[in-house]
Amino acid sequence: MIDMITGAFGGLKSAAELAQSLLTLKTDSAVSTKAVELNRIIFDIQQKMFAIQADYAALLSRTGDLEAEIRDLKSWEEEKQRYQLHELAPGTFTHRLKPDCQGSEPLHDLCENCYQNGVKSILQAAGHKGSYPCFVCPKCKSEYLAERQSMPSYVVSLPSNPRTRF
Ligand SMILES: [Zn+2]
Repeated sequence: MIDMITGAFGGLKSAAELAQSLLTLKTDSAVSTKAVELNRIIFDIQQKMFAIQADYAALLSRTGDLEAEIRDLKSWEEEKQRYQLHELAPGTFTHRLKPDCQGSEPLHDLCENCYQNGVKSILQAAGHKGSYPCFVCPKCKSEYLAERQSMPSYVVSLPSNPRTRF
């Protein structure tokens, strides 16, 4: 396509030069008038070709963007298959890494809000709210309160008396 546009521009340039050379010949005024008219038509076509070239470049760019978008969607569709809906606390849902997909990764949950928007965002521990462990999404800042028993074991196993800790 770009070769065709370049070729068309080349043809128009030759035609314009030819029309210009007609004007330098010793000709009658009728031929001169027609040469001027021809020049005007060539100029008009050139302007249209420039517009086509710009449209084509925009179209190429848009196609590239869409291809990248499709690649991202396909990769997210594959990634989604590794997670399943998980009830972190009654009525509080996340998507948790499936045990058979865990491999060497630590167990983690994804933010449900971001998940639904096609974004992978791993929830991070953010202390406690009251006596409930709180997790926060680093992207959308959603907070998730977990049940007390879902606290990591090192937190719940600390002795209550500091003197017996070590
Ligand atoms: Zn989020």
